[in-house]
Amino acid sequence: MAFDNRRLADLAAHDAFIQRHNGPGDEDVATMLASLDMDSLDTLVQRTVPADIRMDRELNLDPPRSEAEALDYLKRLARQNRVAKSYIGQGYHDTHLPQVIQRNVLENPGWYTAYTPYQPEIAQGRLEGLLNFQQMVMDLTGMDLANASLLDEATAAAEAMALCRRANKKAKSDVFFIADNVLPQTLDVVRTRAAYFGFELLVAPVEELADADVFGALLQYPGDGGQVRDMAPLLEAAKDRGVMTCVAADIMSLVLLKEPGALGADIVVGSSQRFGVPMGYGGPHAAFFATTDKLKRSIPGRIIGVSRDTRGNPALRMAMQTREQHIRREKATSNICTAQALLANIAGFYAVYHGAEGLRTIAGRIHRLTTLLAMGLEEKGVALAHDSWFDTLRLTGVDAGKIHGRAMTHEINLRYFPGGDVAVSLDETTTAHDLDTLFDVLLGEEHGLSVSGLDERAIAESRTGIPAACRRESAFLTHPTFQRYRSETEMLRYLKRLENKDLSLTHAMIPLGSCTMKLNATSEMVPITWPEFAGIHPFAPRDQVAGYRQMIDELAAFLVEITGYDHISMQPNSGAQGEYAGLVAIRRYQASVGEGHRDVCLIPSSAHGTNPASAAMVQMKVVVVECDTFGNIDLADLRRKAEAHSANLSAIMITYPSTHGVFEQSVREVCEIVHQHGGQVYVDGANMNAQVGLTRPGDFGGDVSHLNLHKTFCIPHGGGGPGMGPIGVKAHLAPFVSNHVVTPIDGVNADCGAVSAAAFGSAAILPISWAYIKMMGAKGLRRATELAILNANYVAKRLEDHYPVLYKGVNGTVAHECIIDIRPLKSSSGISEEDIAKRLMDYGFHAPTMSFPVPGTLMIEPTESESRYEIDRFCDAMIAIREEIANVERGEWPVDDNPLTRAPHTMADLMDAAWKRPYSRELGAFPSPAVKAAKIWPAVNRVDNVFGDRQLICSCPSIDEYRD
Ligand SMILES: *Cc1c(COP(=O)(O)O)cnc(C)c1O
Repeated sequence: MAFDNRRLADLAAHDAFIQRHNGPGDEDVATMLASLDMDSLDTLVQRTVPADIRMDRELNLDPPRSEAEALDYLKRLARQNRVAKSYIGQGYHDTHLPQVIQRNVLENPGWYTAYTPYQPEIAQGRLEGLLNFQQMVMDLTGMDLANASLLDEATAAAEAMALCRRANKKAKSDVFFIADNVLPQTLDVVRTRAAYFGFELLVAPVEELADADVFGALLQYPGDGGQVRDMAPLLEAAKDRGVMTCVAADIMSLVLLKEPGALGADIVVGSSQRFGVPMGYGGPHAAFFATTDKLKRSIPGRIIGVSRDTRGNPALRMAMQTREQHIRREKATSNICTAQALLANIAGFYAVYHGAEGLRTIAGRIHRLTTLLAMGLEEKGVALAHDSWFDTLRLTGVDAGKIHGRAMTHEINLRYFPGGDVAVSLDETTTAHDLDTLFDVLLGEEHGLSVSGLDERAIAESRTGIPAACRRESAFLTHPTFQRYRSETEMLRYLKRLENKDLSLTHAMIPLGSCTMKLNATSEMVPITWPEFAGIHPFAPRDQVAGYRQMIDELAAFLVEITGYDHISMQPNSGAQGEYAGLVAIRRYQASVGEGHRDVCLIPSSAHGTNPASAAMVQMKVVVVECDTFGNIDLADLRRKAEAHSANLSAIMITYPSTHGVFEQSVREVCEIVHQHGGQVYVDGANMNAQVGLTRPGDFGGDVSHLNLHKTFCIPHGGGGPGMGPIGVKAHLAPFVSNHVVTPIDGVNADCGAVSAAAFGSAAILPISWAYIKMMGAKGLRRATELAILNANYVAKRLEDHYPVLYKGVNGTVAHECIIDIRPLKSSSGISEEDIAKRLMDYGFHAPTMSFPVPGTLMIEPTESESRYEIDRFCDAMIAIREEIANVERGEWPVDDNPLTRAPHTMADLMDAAWKRPYSRELGAFPSPAVKAAKIWPAVNRVDNVFGDRQLICSCPSIDEYRD
């Protein structure tokens, strides 16, 4: 071998990560280009991305860093955070995430890289986890039904308000009551929502609900400040007067407190954060949403339900998807799409691991320590604002300044109210020793109190802070799942058993058009569980979060450069929430220049369902713009409609490249037409993966875009969340993005309400996107985009002789995804896109996106991270499936008895002694050499959606149902 004489700089391997992130190597690229008759990636880009929007320079970012360097830099940033002991409470509490769950779920790509369970046969594991979560929520809240998570407690409360208005047909009032002891960040978010729904808010002491003329009410349990009061009389009276009631409840308190369902609540919401999920400077955490049976058809978000498969065995799937935005568009119950599946699973597993007794011990201990704290303070003459409590005490008439000084010495964060009150919230990490320190801080060191002395007295006097009427009497978590996995060995095996039922990126490519299932690199994931990021309360003082702030500022600066916008708002927790935040910013801006009447939103017919649903949430009137036969926005129709609505045009929402997988040539013109008529341009950034480094929405006419950091910027999908949907805005919109009542944001108008509970949304997962950009640098990011486009064109090329590719650009190329049309095959063979989707499971693959944006099609997005090897394996499977369809077309197999309509094949099929099908068992379950070498078994046969929706069951089925 020749002596290696490269320069030191070249040997430093700064861009080694670029090659790890991207699937195809140089040789593959050459082969793939050749198959497209192209000589270079530049040629491909020139033929694909319109010249008038192409960047003529490289992004201005730092050079790429190695994985080690990026982690090292991030560690230094993390160390600039100071992890103080937090007693702030206010909806966020420290918690012990059981290590068996941390390592095997949170830090395990088998769990975090899975997709939303739209293909239930290969998702039974996480569906069971989510069903556990729902059961836990139903048990603790005492409600009939719960969904599988929302983004945070504050948005869940806002959704509850909207549900009250939808469901309460009798009430004439447009006023919503909010008790004045609801958490301030919740009030902030609900206020924003109410303003754009056209509701008025009445914020008042809870007693005033008794004679308020309102359609619904939101109460907090225990109240902000810690009070536990019996709300049953109030809730009963409200019900009698036709007022619907929502209770925002602390999940840990419900272990000891009477469940809101028993008090008469219609809706119960809250955060499951303190069930094992780190505070993470605000998120991600799973909110819960539970209702009475009456409201089941209009619950927002995803609900997991029990159905059966073709063998009649119980099988889980997402229920009632007909309610969702994909189908109902602007009439949908909510715009929520990505939620918090991974975090809901973690909270559910926390309950599985501890069971009812474990939770009683934990909650009992928190409550006892709080009671001892109260007794000690009473003994020393400190006045408490309330004579009841679960885990929070509010001290009045104290010297807050002195307490603050002592707290800082002990690195302790307390909550300081304006006016001088101080509050202390305990959690499961609080120890008796901590209590000693708390006495020192609150009373000064000469207090002479002894925790064990207080404990003796508490027992002798049967002291508790929970009023008799508020004590829980009912059992909870009685299902065997919450009793069986108490030893770590059992738990580990349960988690692994569920994981093994699911297909994730650890098995195969997940070619989901529009969802960009790319690599979630291990180095990107490592920092999220560092205590310096995980252990920070979202309302910690500014001087303790310097590292977070710098990381967020740096990420925002990267995204400004990547998008061409002037400012990034890091608050929205998902793409759909970004849409909402962006549209709210538009409405605020227009109101500020005297154009608040503008309320028409143009949306192309191909748009993602969240677009019209979000527009409806800000009371915009949706006007649909048609697409031409090439899938492009019909310019003539756009002109016509922009003109017709010129006086009232507020905005257009477009997706670029389009959801049809094409870079439309006319995008500049589209933006200009809308601007000419006084409208703003919202560019849905879900397809940013085709733009990064090649073009920027801020340059070609966008005023605002959301970015799905969980698509383009490597945050894993988590089986349906977490996500982050920050928005980029032009300067004129920057003052109108969301602010935050507890932690105000510089440069944003003070009267702009929040859209999320925390100022920076799910801050804990931002290091993932930061690390991705840092390790790729400008050239790596551009390369990734080019390869994403190359991979998609290679797929289109390989498949086009077998399946028609529906839309292409002017030069015959597609963008980063392609749609294949199954409708002609369906007419010739009777085989549907769903049959193909299920058959792909037999070949070891997850299906592409089904029937979006065009019914009867499949949309394939390979992303840059997939190698040519894997893409070929996928295309080979698709081609083999086409051969199978040909057999049906030729009549060799009956249309109702063939490997496609029978797919997926399970072990039960193979063992079936009565197998009489016209094809072999081997062809059924082992149709390719790849699956013979490594088989992924679907856990159930094809799931019957309709059956489960007719008889909705959203709780854990009794074990009997699993018996024959
Ligand atoms: C994914 C997606 C959204 C919604 O994003 P969420 O993060 O799921 O809320 C919106 N538009 C398009 C085109 C998308 O693909």
